[in-house]
Amino acid sequence: MMPTCTRCKNDVNKVYDCDHTDFKEYCVECYTELHYYMTENK
Ligand SMILES: [Zn+2]
Ligand SMILES: [Zn+2]
Repeated sequence: MMPTCTRCKNDVNKVYDCDHTDFKEYCVECYTELHYYMTENK
């Protein structure tokens, strides 16, 4: 069974988490986007 991204609800091959996602599983697109906006807003 493929993991599901918590944010976009897509089934993906690989998920990522960190403290910024509250350790929820995000797909690479959502994960990258999250960190992209975090660095942009500094
Ligand atoms: Zn996603
Ligand atoms: Zn992070």
